[in-house]
Amino acid sequence: MQSDPPTSADLFECRQCGECCRGYGGTYLASPDIENIARYLGITKQEFIQRYCTLSAGQYLLCQKRDGYCAFWDGLCTIHPVKPRMCMAWPFIENLLYEPSNWDVMAQACPGIRTGFDKKDVIRCVRRKLGELERYRNESISYNKTGGV
Ligand code: SF4
Ligand code: SF4
Repeated sequence: MQSDPPTSADLFECRQCGECCRGYGGTYLASPDIENIARYLGITKQEFIQRYCTLSAGQYLLCQKRDGYCAFWDGLCTIHPVKPRMCMAWPFIENLLYEPSNWDVMAQACPGIRTGFDKKDVIRCVRRKLGELERYRNESISYNKTGGV
């Protein structure tokens, strides 16, 4: 049953179809992403960049396999605990704060997105999810810097 006001769980539930892990667009990496994923894989940042990244307009992107899927897709995300911020945030992306009507457009590509919500509910859920994500990532990064596994 839907909550009042609707929560992010009302707006979205991942179907794990993998559609967002393939195709055009690419997954951009911020510096903390590179640091976290390299540590998770047990390789240096330089090795990670050489093996798994490509450059586009001066920014690192995750490489794709020949089938068009992300290098880390294998029926599920194999780096789920440290996947890039862009992946963690999806579909609650910043752009929706300015263009909440894009929610319904994104739903055409993501079967986990439910539509028909008021724009203010979309904005409220995006704000909350992005806030949670920042807190999680700050904890994760400070944990990594203290030498945690
Ligand atoms: S496209 Fe949507 S439902 Fe499918 S895996 Fe990605 S987030 Fe989940
Ligand atoms: S890192 Fe994981 S969630 Fe992100 S595109 Fe690759 S497989 Fe998908």
